[in-house]
Amino acid sequence: VFPVSDKIKGPQGVIKVPYRILMGPGPSNAHPRILAAQTLPLLGHLHPPFLALMDEIKAGLQYAFQTESKYTLLISGTGHAGMELCLANMLEPGQKVIIGNNGIWGERCADMAKRYEANVIELKCPPGQSFTFEEVKKAVEEHKPALLFLCQGESSTGVQQSLAGMGELCHQNGALLLVDTVCSLGAVPFFGDAWGVDICYSGSQKALSASPGTTPFFMSQKAHDRLTSRKTGVHSYNYDLNLLGKYWGWYEGRFYHHTGIVSLWYGMREALAIVYETGLETMWKRHRELYDQLWEGLRDLGLEPFAENPADQLPSVNTIKVPEGIDWLGLNNYVMGKYNLEIAGGLGPSAGKVWRIGIMGFNATAANIALVIAAFKDGLQSQGFHGA
Ligand code: PMP
Repeated sequence: VFPVSDKIKGPQGVIKVPYRILMGPGPSNAHPRILAAQTLPLLGHLHPPFLALMDEIKAGLQYAFQTESKYTLLISGTGHAGMELCLANMLEPGQKVIIGNNGIWGERCADMAKRYEANVIELKCPPGQSFTFEEVKKAVEEHKPALLFLCQGESSTGVQQSLAGMGELCHQNGALLLVDTVCSLGAVPFFGDAWGVDICYSGSQKALSASPGTTPFFMSQKAHDRLTSRKTGVHSYNYDLNLLGKYWGWYEGRFYHHTGIVSLWYGMREALAIVYETGLETMWKRHRELYDQLWEGLRDLGLEPFAENPADQLPSVNTIKVPEGIDWLGLNNYVMGKYNLEIAGGLGPSAGKVWRIGIMGFNATAANIALVIAAFKDGLQSQGFHGA
């Protein structure tokens, strides 16, 4: 036994956190009803009331993803965990995967797939653009991959990827379709079954208005068949869907795989109830109208989108070109200091070139958009910019 060190200091006093209006690419502010749910008393992670709550979450995920597949669950971990789980379960060493890489999420997906020793084929297009169906078709028909990755909402460039026809294309060529919906689910239309999506993960802290830390997930029967016919085991214990599925009640009996993140799962139950009660169509319409409001205001200020083609623009994460001579970080700091407002800079291929504005979930209000426009006007004027 040693004396406890008096050199190592821990935190003291009650936690203090400033209030911020989070209008960057996420996390966005959580809905108060969700935060309230997270303060409820803990339950055991295998107690019957908690298992019933997990069943409610699975149903809520089916609605949010528009899938009747029973293979839904929450991954314990953030969007990166979702990406890694999908690759770990769907790929075996040497198998081909085509990764649509038009921003940082394609880059990261390629990095992860290589770690799982997949044969990675990167399909590229200039940042700020999405892939055409013909480009993807050509690559899939040529390479016949086991898996195709597309990001529906490429938040580093503010680009929306159309998924129309992609599922059918994959299935005609023996591939499965993997989609990242971290920044898009709840904000823009997504039809898991109708679009033939096989495996998909999303984000809790974006348009679903919950805390970071859990990841909505579903897979199709085809993806489940792929999982159960693997020749090699899943290399990750934490992300093995065979085991996770047993915890989430996909099969008879329940199995302790890990301790569910009890409080965050309460929050996601509430988030999914809000999505269902609001209705997806209402949510999509609200995001679209606010996107129109944002761009009307920004264009009046002389600002322009980074994603030039309107069909490519992602309503939930907007990328705005930084005009010549403007200090983008200076503006971010200015509006944070004056308005408690988060405006983010670029990421990956858009770093230093854009600001990014999120319109997501609880934060998607006309008042917040008006504040963003006013803050841009003020911030730009403070640097002597009075329009292009
Ligand atoms: N995919 C996309 C499209 C994202 O926007 C993000 C987060 N910005 C991620 C994946 C990774 O999510 P997380 O930071 O929650 O791990």
